[in-house]
Amino acid sequence: MQEILKVPTKAGPDLVDITGEVEGVVEKSGIKEGICLVFVPGATGAVVINENEPGLMEDFKKTLEKLAPEGGYKHPHNAHSHIRAMLLGPGETIPLEEGRLVLGTWQSIFLVNLDTGPRDRDVLVRVLGE
Ligand code: ZN
Repeated sequence: MQEILKVPTKAGPDLVDITGEVEGVVEKSGIKEGICLVFVPGATGAVVINENEPGLMEDFKKTLEKLAPEGGYKHPHNAHSHIRAMLLGPGETIPLEEGRLVLGTWQSIFLVNLDTGPRDRDVLVRVLGE
C-alpha cells in the first residue's frame, strides 16, 4: 500500500508538519502491525521527526544555516541545500501498532524543503505489514 502526498513548501529551510496526512494513509491502508516508510524522492528534501514547537523550528533552521552556510562550494547554485539534505536524510521509518503510528507525545513528522526556492514536493508513504 503506497500513496504519494503532494506537499507545497516555501523556500528552504521550510518545515511542513505532515503527521496528519501520514496517519490518514495508515488508516486507509487497514494495516495494523508493521512499519510506515515516509520518503522524499529529491536531493534537496528531507524528512525528520521531532517536536512541532515554533521556537524549536527557528532554532533548527538557524542550526542548519550554521552547519552548512550558503556559498563557497564546488556544486553550482545550491550546494548548501544538498548538504543540509544529506545531513538530515531523505526518509524515516515509523513502527505501526494496532493500526497507529508509534510516535512519542512530542514527535511529529516533517517534510523539510531545503532548496533555495519554493517547491511542490512529492512525499511517498508506504505502509507494510498485516
Ligand atoms: Zn544542485
